[in-house]
Amino acid sequence: MSSSRIMPEFELLIPQSIKEAVDLLGKLKSKASVMAGGTDVVISMTKGFGSPNVISLAEIPGLDYVEYDSKQGLRIGAMATLQQVADNADVEKHYPALWKSAAINGTPQTRNMGTVVGNIMRASPSGDCCCAILAIGGTIVLRGPEGKREVSIDD
Ligand SMILES: Cc1cc2nc3c(=O)[nH]c(=O)nc-3n(C[C@H](O)[C@H](O)[C@H](O)COP(=O)(O)OP(=O)(O)OC[C@H]3O[C@@H](n4cnc5c(N)ncnc54)[C@H](O)[C@@H]3O)c2cc1C
Repeated sequence: MSSSRIMPEFELLIPQSIKEAVDLLGKLKSKASVMAGGTDVVISMTKGFGSPNVISLAEIPGLDYVEYDSKQGLRIGAMATLQQVADNADVEKHYPALWKSAAINGTPQTRNMGTVVGNIMRASPSGDCCCAILAIGGTIVLRGPEGKREVSIDD
């Protein structure tokens, strides 16, 4: 394992739909990483924890939503940035812990690139949004070759 600031070579795959992304993951399995904002993935790569293939979600349309409904609650898309959540008045009013975890997260640069879902999927015990959502409770919607399923954040 190497650790440096030098980016190793990798194949960047840019699917245009969720189905295409799921198919690529099904084919490449552990030889691929998913990338949202890349603020964790890119650093991992320079530290020798990279995959030979990176599947970017950047060009899949419609993943950057932050939607609040008083009955349904809050829905955050896989490409919604930390800054989008910090700028959302409904999140600030109804989910203040989550709002603060996004608003103070990192730097303006990482808030503009990094996502809430990336913070959760990184599964770091020090992840700010991850901890806030664990405290609030919530559900992650997962997609795979066999379809869609919902998993409690506690699991
Ligand atoms: C300078 C700097 C400061 C930072 N400060 C903070 C801080 O104060 N608090 C904090 O909590 N974090 C901090 N971070 C970490 C990082 O910015 C956050 O964890 C961010 O929310 C990650 O989001 P991302 O979209 O960039 O994730 P990525 O790097 O794209 O992905 C992170 C992980 O999640 C996986 N992933 C992402 N999206 C999906 C998906 N849709 N489906 C499946 N897997 C997925 C990736 O494969 C990877 O394992 C900092 C990072 C840097 C570089």
